[in-house]
Amino acid sequence: MRRTNPSTKVTSSGGDPPSATPSRRAALTPAALGLDPVLARRTHEYAAAELRRLILLRVVNPGERLPNELELAEALDVSHVTVRAALRELERDDLLEIRRGRHGGAYITGVPVLGGGASPVGALKQRADALRHALELRRLLEPEAAALAASRAAPRDLVRLRRAHKLVADREEADDSSFMAADTAFHLELARASGNPQIARSIEQVLSELAPALQALPESGAWHNRSIVEHEQIVGGVLGGDGASARDAMGTHVDSTERAIEVLLQGLIRPSSAGMARRVRPSKAPANADGSASG
Ligand SMILES: [Zn+2]
Repeated sequence: MRRTNPSTKVTSSGGDPPSATPSRRAALTPAALGLDPVLARRTHEYAAAELRRLILLRVVNPGERLPNELELAEALDVSHVTVRAALRELERDDLLEIRRGRHGGAYITGVPVLGGGASPVGALKQRADALRHALELRRLLEPEAAALAASRAAPRDLVRLRRAHKLVADREEADDSSFMAADTAFHLELARASGNPQIARSIEQVLSELAPALQALPESGAWHNRSIVEHEQIVGGVLGGDGASARDAMGTHVDSTERAIEVLLQGLIRPSSAGMARRVRPSKAPANADGSASG
């Protein structure tokens, strides 16, 4: 019987035959595979991480009540026992309070801080590299998502996007935390309008990575106003079906935030300016705070 031997075929074009068949090759080393340690997590920890991410992204805010255990169990596709364990974990982290009685439920009380017990500034400092990587990823993703949205968004996506934009504009004078919540909601809406759930999910993740740094930025009316103007240009590009202009506008917007976070990180890393961590961007001239923009 004739059998085709794949290795003969490969070598028939010339060169030496392979020195060993696959079964005789030396085993790959773990280092060659670049394996990372697996973080063993139990189901309730995954559920808690998912809820923590929503709190971090300000999808739910302090004072608001989460859906009840059964609804959460259904949405997360886990048992209500798992949900209960997840809620207890978040309660231990002071992110929510579980109240009993007629108006009982899980009420959000706080916002997560990266780095466990470390101070917000210390946690940011520890994670400077991870934040820079997240910024790089955001710069790749969000402008392209905006361009896709310009060519694909369905009429109902456009309605939602306009509504999300209006909510941000209405909060120009609001405190930083509610402005940021609306701002994040706008970015998530735009990500969804890209019509690619994988891109939307990646943007959601990258924004939750960046949330602690965004929260640490000293905001101001001028900063809010600039964000709104930049959002307007993005929305204009998407509504007009102009992918290139939506992409450029989002690129400009992402650059502004990136510069501000970079100034924050630089301030954290230079010991002499550690005390300036929350005051790195002068409120009157946010655009020039990094010193790189022309005067
Ligand atoms: Zn924005």
